Order: sequence, then C-alpha cells, then structure tokens
Amino acid sequence: MDGQYLPMSEAKISVLDWGLLHSDATYDTVHVWKGMFFRLDLHLDRFLAGVDRLRMKLPYERENIALILSNCVALSGLKSAYVEMICTRGSSPTFSRDPRQAENRFIAFAVPFGSVANKEQLERGLHVAISETVRIPPQSVDPSIKNYHWLDLVKGLFDAYEAGAETALVLDANGNVAEGPGFNVFVVNGGSLKTPEFGVLPGITRRTVFDLCAEIGLPATAADIGPAELKAADEVFITSTAGGIMPVTRIDGSPVAQGQVGPVTRQLMDLYWLKHDDAGWSTAVAYP
Ligand code: PLP
Repeated sequence: MDGQYLPMSEAKISVLDWGLLHSDATYDTVHVWKGMFFRLDLHLDRFLAGVDRLRMKLPYERENIALILSNCVALSGLKSAYVEMICTRGSSPTFSRDPRQAENRFIAFAVPFGSVANKEQLERGLHVAISETVRIPPQSVDPSIKNYHWLDLVKGLFDAYEAGAETALVLDANGNVAEGPGFNVFVVNGGSLKTPEFGVLPGITRRTVFDLCAEIGLPATAADIGPAELKAADEVFITSTAGGIMPVTRIDGSPVAQGQVGPVTRQLMDLYWLKHDDAGWSTAVAYP
C-alpha cells in the first residue's frame, strides 16, 4: 500500500476513500498454486483495462505491478495464495466531490488460497439456489470492469441460505441465469457446453474453460440460459479463480440429472489443475 509492504493487520485505507464510500474501485484476483501464478497476463490485462475505463491512473507500469504481486506472495511465504490487486478512486485532499480530483490508490495483497467450494463440496457437488434477485445490469455497471457492486450477490447468498442451499445464482434483467457471488456458471448438455453471455464478468476461469474445450474438441458457447434449462442440464458447474471448476449437483433442492458429479465436469476439473504445470500459463513467484 502506498509504496510499502506491510503485514495484513497494518494494511488500512482512509474512511474517506471513494473505494469504500462509493464502491468506486476496480480489482482483480489471481491465484498462485505451488509457487506459480496461473494466467497472470490475463488477470493483468483485465485489471488494466478496468482501471483505464474508470479513468483512473495507476502509479505503476504493468511490469511493476507483476513484481509487486510476486513480492507480496514471496513476503507472505505462501506457496498457494489468493492475490488481489486493487485500484480505488482514493480521496481528494480538498474534500472535492469531483472524482477527477481524487488521488487514486493502488493496493495489492496475498492471503492463503481460498475456494468457493470446500473439499467435501468439490467431491459431492455444490447445492445451489437460484435467487429472484436481479444482477445489476450492464447498462448501469459494466460487468467487464471487475467491481465490488455485490449487494445483489450478497442478497442472493442470504436467499440461498434461507432455502437451505450453500450458494446462489442470480438472474439477469431478462430472467436468465447470470452468475453467482464470485463465479460464472456452465451447463453441459449432450456433450456441449454453454455459459451465460449477458451481464456477467468475463471470468478468466470461464475463458480457461473455453480454451480447454478447444483443446479437447468440446463445443462451448456463450448464450442465454433460462432457469429451467439450467435445472434440466446433464451437468452444471461453476468457475472461479477461487477454486477453479466446481461441480453443482443440486439446484433449488432437486438433483442435477442423477445428482452426481458428471464426467465432463470431472475431465475439465482434472485438466484445469494439470494445466497449472504448463509453462505457457504459469509465472513463477520470485521467492528469495
Ligand atoms: N463473476 C463475479 C461477479 C466474480 O466476482 C468473479 C470472480 O471473483 C467471477 C465471476 C469469476 O471470475 P474469475 O474466473 O476471473 O475468477
């Protein structure tokens, strides 16, 4: 933060930062697995594009950011980590309400690797509820700029807990399935994959599923998916940097197909983790 490396307990931002007061911020999260960043370039591309679109300015070039992220992980000593880079609007020294006068702030941190699904859920599949909550539409907030507009997703989570499920999917403004708190969703039907196209964050794990499908010759497209189609799918899985590819075996209390983790999901999960050893998709952390 502000050019210094600190223990997490000392990393604090001003209460006047627009990132806190107005969610005026963008961020990205990349993971480190066995000492290697996974697809760091794609995360940096998305982060820098978001900063640019929000008309913020970073105090560092791309190469410096990559080095700072690596230093955070190296200083933490973690071999598997969840690494966040954030740019907030910051605040104005004169208390101006004009965002152009704010001094933007860059923050990065590394914490232990975290997953949406725990070990048991990865083995038996997640139980998901579809919330009636509508995801903030792309006309309001561009979802390709990764953001902290999460009140819809958090409401979805509480709806899911009340329905006895473990996590949530929310809808888009047309009533189709959008995404969940920190993940995209895929359906598998007759060996073909589909993921929502409209109003969702273009996830790097989602992109990775497309890349893996191209490698193994599975058709995959982005298009609308209604709740009924989701529930009638052969297989359903979610994707996130926080956990990778994670199976879903119950939706709104009913099993997906036979309620077992499906073969396509399993194949993609295995391939996803194997790809972490691929030099083309990995960047080593510079540990001392
Ligand atoms: N959708 C939302 C709203 C997210 O916050 C995230 C990740 O945090 C994702 C999808 C998944 O994106 P990625 O695969 O890049 O982690």
